Amino acid sequence: MATVKFYGEESVPLEMHKVRIVQKLNLLPIDQRLKAISEAGNNTFLLQNADVFLDMLTDSGVNAMSDQQLAAMMVADDAYAGSATYTRLADKLHEIFGMDYFLPTHQGRACEHILAKVLVQPGTVVAMNYHFTTTKAHITLQGGVVEELVADAGLEVTSDLPFKGDIDIAKLEAVIKKYGADKIAFVRVESGTNLIGGQPVSLKNLADLRKVCSQHGILYVLDASLLADNLYFNKIREESCKNLSIREITRKVADLFDIIYFSARKLGCARGGGICIRDKELYFKMRGLVPLYEGFLTYGGMSVREMEALAVGLEETMDEDMISQGPQFIACMVNDLDKRGIPVITPPGGLGCHLDAKRFVDHIPQSQYPAGALASALYIVSGIRGMERGTLSEQREPDGSEVFANMELVRLALPRRVFTLSQVKYAVDRIAWLHENRRLIGGLEFIDEPPILRFFYGLLKPVSDWQEKLVAKFRADFGDSL
Ligand SMILES: *Cc1c(COP(=O)(O)O)cnc(C)c1O
Repeated sequence: MATVKFYGEESVPLEMHKVRIVQKLNLLPIDQRLKAISEAGNNTFLLQNADVFLDMLTDSGVNAMSDQQLAAMMVADDAYAGSATYTRLADKLHEIFGMDYFLPTHQGRACEHILAKVLVQPGTVVAMNYHFTTTKAHITLQGGVVEELVADAGLEVTSDLPFKGDIDIAKLEAVIKKYGADKIAFVRVESGTNLIGGQPVSLKNLADLRKVCSQHGILYVLDASLLADNLYFNKIREESCKNLSIREITRKVADLFDIIYFSARKLGCARGGGICIRDKELYFKMRGLVPLYEGFLTYGGMSVREMEALAVGLEETMDEDMISQGPQFIACMVNDLDKRGIPVITPPGGLGCHLDAKRFVDHIPQSQYPAGALASALYIVSGIRGMERGTLSEQREPDGSEVFANMELVRLALPRRVFTLSQVKYAVDRIAWLHENRRLIGGLEFIDEPPILRFFYGLLKPVSDWQEKLVAKFRADFGDSL
């Protein structure tokens, strides 16, 4: 995005790219939308993409690629072992992050699998700002415990705190004291905390955490999946970064860590993942698992074409015009909704706009999954697919009791370089209508509940006939309009 001043008009984000490939979209009539979401068990993961108008489920693997990325895919070096593509990717990561060793994986969670297998044992603890679904699942599968140490203020939904992803250093010290440093498998920082609104972590906090880890000899790990947005927020919100290039900020961040892993479905606008490691011995410990679970060491389950696209995408990530597109569109959406009194997470973060279902539908108890119900209602009235990030995304306790999430969110992801501003305005308009009619929205209950990662394929139904009533009100207000 460029920061061009507008004459006589309110400034809007100005794209520094043009669209050269398009995909046709469908907007189904509302009765067909109701049918589609019912058949999907009110689970937006189970909708067919052909039934979705604006797909705001995720930013994973759906960011728009550049012409340069597509061109690079054509010159990929297809070899099981020793591919030149691998060397180009490893060299680019070395150039950007300055770490000597790189292990490719098929996506981000595969990195978590390998890290957990090698570093986590029963009785060990992973301290982090906030968990991500697959991260926590891998750690607990190994018998480890997750301790979330984000500062309390980071969990306040409305705020003007610039870095809500920061870890509370006092909380970390208390956890080290409680378990003993030798029981802390590693400290994990997620840059751009996914589940609490894509909120960034400050360079200052990262540096302070490094000191604590060094003092206690604890391994320090960065989940860099959402690093691109975080770098942009460092640049614009942190005084010490104002005069640094994105490449310089990246290096300042990377230099603090022992391990950096990422999902290339987000970072680098491709598909895949990888682990960058500073220490040779640690590299050897993890290396053996790559051929076992992923693929040979020079592709790790990725296609060589995606690896070429990733190498180019990582270089493009060093361009402020490129990485600002997501955060600036998100800021437009969040600020517009906020102005209309609609509860959203503030300040605007990366990744997407997050509706606060706890306030949006405050009449729905957490046991009836308010965020899931809101996501279902939004699809019905707009064809927009969002993602529940609340109690449904949690796992039950071993005794079967519910874990009520700290936040009940509907995430409306804005994949990078994909949507236009008029599509964002449509989303705001339908959300505003839904907010006015929010009392019509009711809760959900399970028909079929899988024991792990239930949000991916669980089936639910409405607790009453509220969805039919919502459709009737929509018809009364919009007539035949889609
Ligand atoms: C998406 C994501 C992951 C998992 O990556 P996948 O490629 O989807 O497996 C891990 N951590 C964070 C912060 C993410 O956003």
